[in-house]
Amino acid sequence: MTAQMTRRQFFKVTAGGVASVGLGALGLSPEQVQAATRPFKLERTTEARNICPYCSVSCGVLMYSIGDKAKNVKAEIIHIEGDPDNPVNRGTLCPKGAGLLDMIHSPNRLKYPEVREAGTSEWKRISWDEAITRIATHMRADRDANFQAKNADGVTVNRWQSAGFLASSAASNEAGYLTNKVLRGLGMTAIDTQARI
Ligand code: SF4
Repeated sequence: MTAQMTRRQFFKVTAGGVASVGLGALGLSPEQVQAATRPFKLERTTEARNICPYCSVSCGVLMYSIGDKAKNVKAEIIHIEGDPDNPVNRGTLCPKGAGLLDMIHSPNRLKYPEVREAGTSEWKRISWDEAITRIATHMRADRDANFQAKNADGVTVNRWQSAGFLASSAASNEAGYLTNKVLRGLGMTAIDTQARI
């Protein structure tokens, strides 16, 4: 032991050396050891497929939750990684997608519908039923007031241009088809998603 190395440092170095020798003796590379121990971390989890919500690339993710099987522990997502079977990203994620776990557990994450009534500055929680009813009521009133059957030249246009809809580029083909079918059927022309590709 050199004069520069403390007793604690000495034990750290020798412990690391012993560990490396042990793994080497088993014939395993560090990558193989990591691959071998990973299943144990996720052994009791439930795996679910999903899509990263951030951008229009729509990378596939695997989400692992724990706690729901026992029925007496609140389910919690403990790990997220890229889905190797998804043809969009083949298991890769950009830094935003790799940080999804933090977004999910953020105290600022919006988890339910809220409304700020006219004349107030406070947001209040409402049910999904109430939110959908409110949105439908507003849409109906606006469409009734602004729907144009014909333009100034008398040409039939059947359009509703006073409202717009922001859909999702991460939606499936079927959801995208239905979204457009319903909105175009109402005469809406301003439909967009976050896709810029
Ligand atoms: S992982 Fe990155 S590139 Fe992929 S959808 Fe999410 S934000 Fe977009």
